Amino acid sequence: MDNCIFCKIIAGEIPSNKVYEDDNVYAFRDINPQAPVHVLIVPKKHFANILECDAETAAALTDAIRAVAKQEGVDESGFRVISNCGPDGAQSVNHLHVHLLGGVKLAERMA
Ligand code: 5GP
Ligand code: ZN
Repeated sequence: MDNCIFCKIIAGEIPSNKVYEDDNVYAFRDINPQAPVHVLIVPKKHFANILECDAETAAALTDAIRAVAKQEGVDESGFRVISNCGPDGAQSVNHLHVHLLGGVKLAERMA
């Protein structure tokens, strides 16, 4: 989608630190990490947020979450996945993405 920063990252028009890629999903390190492991997992197809995504994309994201967690070595220690949605969710980039956070004991409260 024009003017979408994550579409530009997926297309390689904006550089990113790639962690994982398959036919449907691209994952890269967050530019402003909130934990030792902070990866953004993004469908290649543009959806504004989780309300819009189709079942195939949701399944592809789940597969990618598992692959990234293993690859980053947090599958046994544990991790958190978050997808911010809309104004009250503090979504700042309107291309569906999942944050995968780990590598540290995260706060028990999320908000
Ligand atoms: P949101 O607030 O929408 O849930 O998350 C957007 C995330 O994208 C933020 O954590 C922010 O640091 C990250 N981000 C924004 N622009 C860029 C960028 O150009 N490159 C990377 N790697 N991350 C970005
Ligand atoms: Zn996009």
